[in-house]
Amino acid sequence: MASGLSCPDRCGRCCESRNVEATVLETLPLASEILSKNAVDGLLPLLENRAINGATLCVLYSPEAGHPGEGRCSFYEFRPLVCRLFGYAGRRNRKGILEPCFCIPIKDHHPDCLERFHTAVSKKSPPSLYQDFFMRIASMNPIFGTKLLPVNIAIREGLSYLRMKMHPFSDAAD
Ligand code: SF4
Repeated sequence: MASGLSCPDRCGRCCESRNVEATVLETLPLASEILSKNAVDGLLPLLENRAINGATLCVLYSPEAGHPGEGRCSFYEFRPLVCRLFGYAGRRNRKGILEPCFCIPIKDHHPDCLERFHTAVSKKSPPSLYQDFFMRIASMNPIFGTKLLPVNIAIREGLSYLRMKMHPFSDAAD
């Protein structure tokens, strides 16, 4: 927000990557929302199918028909960490210097993105850093918060964990 950078309207190119990864911990708020909306039965067959077939398009992505590269997340407010950081977040390089990791659409959309990045840093509003957030997730729960899985598998694991917690003696928890 300090940098004033934003994604191009309707851009869904990061969700169209077949390599989105998340930890199970990050998917728990999402899994809880899916369960509370009773949306799980519609999603599970898709999740099973995509999880079995390896890293494919995220099951929550809703592409805009006829507009390649455009679409939206059907559970945007509950998306995992990488979906929040990608495109904007920075990192510390080996020398400890902050550097941006902008995605191509942001670079195209904001040709002055590098300048904005450095202005935000100089105003003591540094960008979110990948390392910091992944460390925070890992320290919350080293079992569920460290292993990166293809996003569909992470969502499936998150759902089955919550279902097991809610109904420990039910077949539905399998
Ligand atoms: S969880 Fe949402 S934001 Fe993340 S890849 Fe899937 S559709 Fe995109």
